[in-house]
Amino acid sequence: TAKDAGRDQTVIFNESIRQKADEREKIERCLRTALDHDELTVFYQPKVDIETGQIMGSEALLRWEHPDLGSVPPWKFIPLAEECGLMPSIGEFVLRQSLEDMNVVRKQGFDLSVAVNVAPIQFQSDSFTDRTLGILGESGFPLDKLELEITESSIMEDPQRVYRQIVPIRDEGVEFAIDDFGTGYSSLNTLATMPFDTLKIDRSFVMNMAESEDRRVIVQLILMMAQQLRMKTVAEGIETRGQYDHLKAWGANFAQGYLWSPPVPFAAFKAMVRAGLDDIDDADELSDKRR
Ligand code: C2E
Ligand code: MG
Ligand code: MG
Ligand code: MG
Repeated sequence: TAKDAGRDQTVIFNESIRQKADEREKIERCLRTALDHDELTVFYQPKVDIETGQIMGSEALLRWEHPDLGSVPPWKFIPLAEECGLMPSIGEFVLRQSLEDMNVVRKQGFDLSVAVNVAPIQFQSDSFTDRTLGILGESGFPLDKLELEITESSIMEDPQRVYRQIVPIRDEGVEFAIDDFGTGYSSLNTLATMPFDTLKIDRSFVMNMAESEDRRVIVQLILMMAQQLRMKTVAEGIETRGQYDHLKAWGANFAQGYLWSPPVPFAAFKAMVRAGLDDIDDADELSDKRR
């Protein structure tokens, strides 16, 4: 009967909520020990100068490989890490590791920069600025070669607070980028007054450029706006030669994407830097090889 069917659905519904909660709890439990057990690693995705096609730096991206859970994607564990209070220490681990790794590459004679993501919750702690400055000081890394990325939506949660927290770090020469631009709700006024050096256009805009004239117009407008505000621009998620050609024609400064390489372990990144990027005409084959 309809009544039984309804009850069954409720049972199934509760069952799936319970499973989700169980999974969450399991991930959370494992995450607490992940740092101590060296399960977290930092991958690097090359960032390319659009004009020259050369690697000029990278973005550091966190990876978690658990013995039972396998590789857990960032969208699954980073929000959890934020909720259960682990993000400050995980964020600091990523920063330390990236600077250490990039010091190695720089000692080999490659003048590369690195971009590190900062989670919204990291700003909510008053000690963020001092702790970050402490890590930077210990690293010996040239601070004008470091960029910290903050998502548009997390800036807009409390722009004044973000402003206060980043200014002392920026005074030391570190640059700041607005990440995932176009997906949050920026007030253009806030954007114009915040001390950001770089604007990263979200992948979702780049993705549909070939099919949609509207998308192309939006990307062009974002680039024009950034240029007028004297910000540098990075396009994320470049997968095709066509997307690259558009962005180059429109004056974007830098790009990242599978066209060159997905994020890779440090050893693979070093090898890529030494070898230089191959001709990108065979991009599909290349990114298969590197994935
Ligand atoms: P994000 O900072 O916007 O990073 C770019 C994401 O786009 C990365 O996903 C990268 O692998 C992916 N990507 C780059 N090029 C392409 C492409 O051509 N095609 C496609 N399909 N994807 C591309 P990933 O590594 O899975 O990271 C997802 C998000 O997780 C990041 O987005 C960032 O918000 C967060 N995240 C990753 N590592 C960290 C970290 O150390 N700290 C913090 N706070 N967040 C992190
Ligand atoms: Mg980022
Ligand atoms: Mg991004
Ligand atoms: Mg993004």
